[in-house]
Amino acid sequence: MEDFYITTAIPYVNARPHIGFALECVQADVIARHRRISGERVYLTTGTDENSLKNVIAAEKAGMKTKDFCAANSALFRELADRIGLSYDAFIETASDPDHRKVAETLWRACSKSGDIYMKKYSGLYCVGCELFYKESELVGGLCPEHRTKPEIVEEENYFFRLSKYGGRLLEALDKEITIIPDSRKSEITNFIKEGLEDFSISRSIKRSRGWGIPVPGDSSQTIYVWFDALGAYLSGAGLPSDMKKFNSLWPADMHVIGKGVVRFHAIYWPAMLMSAGIPLPKSIFIHGYVTVNGQKMSKSIGNVVDPVQMLEKYGMDPVRYYLTRSISTFQDGDFSEKAVKEATNSELVGNLGNFVNRTLTFISSVMGGSVDEQDLGEGKLLLDEVYKIVDEVERLMRQGQLNAAILRIMEISSLGNRYFQDNEPWKLAKEDAAAAKEVLFVCANLCRILGILIYPYMPETSNRILKYIGEEPTRLSGAKSLKKHFEIAAPNILFRKIE
Ligand SMILES: [Zn+2]
Repeated sequence: MEDFYITTAIPYVNARPHIGFALECVQADVIARHRRISGERVYLTTGTDENSLKNVIAAEKAGMKTKDFCAANSALFRELADRIGLSYDAFIETASDPDHRKVAETLWRACSKSGDIYMKKYSGLYCVGCELFYKESELVGGLCPEHRTKPEIVEEENYFFRLSKYGGRLLEALDKEITIIPDSRKSEITNFIKEGLEDFSISRSIKRSRGWGIPVPGDSSQTIYVWFDALGAYLSGAGLPSDMKKFNSLWPADMHVIGKGVVRFHAIYWPAMLMSAGIPLPKSIFIHGYVTVNGQKMSKSIGNVVDPVQMLEKYGMDPVRYYLTRSISTFQDGDFSEKAVKEATNSELVGNLGNFVNRTLTFISSVMGGSVDEQDLGEGKLLLDEVYKIVDEVERLMRQGQLNAAILRIMEISSLGNRYFQDNEPWKLAKEDAAAAKEVLFVCANLCRILGILIYPYMPETSNRILKYIGEEPTRLSGAKSLKKHFEIAAPNILFRKIE
């Protein structure tokens, strides 16, 4: 069995989780579940990034101890991960996980042993929101391009990582070892490298970090820079250092799923740190865009921050997962609107998928005595051949990470099924031509089964319900291209309810 190790980014816990992280959870989970039903052994790591100055500042504002504040907010992220159906194996809280602290220290020592860590006095422009130093040339009108805030001038003596040494090797790795998905994002990364990499600061004085974070090994006056420690969560999630057997089977990671705002950390800093530490590089980085709300960037001041947990409570897990993967672009920026969630649910889940599955299964259970068997196929054979082609194409799209395109193709199977059912009028055939009616229902039952299998990565609850109604065990993707010969159908409940 092949192992497939996938991670989400680990978000800061300075605020409640927003819809962008919900999108990332769903994307990573769709990929993970697809691999699982393809027969791979999947392991998924997620977690929260806690050793950050911005968490300290947010805790102060909330009048809480940083430790308690992080724990309380981390629980909200865990709640989101659970409610949205993220099938994670490890959830790393970077401030409290003892293994994670060891990993950060190990990474530090390994990079230091390679001669890549040194002390330097410097001053630079720092955005706390990004936890990143900017070059003057990167600012937009003197402001952070992400936060539109003025970075502060920070002057201190810190440890630096010799990133400048790794430009050539990074370019080579991006050509041969690390696949950037989508490919179109690769040039912005290689261009950044080609402009010349500068060493970056990987520690903070204990005064500036306000004593929060992981101390630098051998120098308690300094704290490890939050990104240097946070990236290590991908290693600690995989079992380093306490379970080396697990770690050796999982690492290198097959895929890091991240947002476009943290590309530099994942595609440049992280591989360079791993090279320095002598650890193999991740195989791919999957990059999604930002989610706006009703056409505007989410912000507290505009008051358009969408609480994904509230959406899940209101509309249910599968409709939200469906909407996020179907309507929000997989790789480009996308726009979230509650109105669009309702529309997608009503017209596509209720009107198309739910309609087809419910009419087929209800008809078999009420008119056909609850069972159908294999029939000689006429026109139905042509339809199945067309559907098998779609199954192949869905697989190809999934392997490319084209999650939007794949779910749209899957829904076409349901449209084809509805049209076939409608055109053949089995309610008439049942009275006039029993054999013909059986053929139609046999084909439709098989289409329900194929849909039940294919939608599993996107809508696991709905998939499980469909497969249960048709008496099918949770199944493998490979089953989507063979016919089930005998169905015993239970009377189904409504699959999706219309949202008013
Ligand atoms: Zn910023």
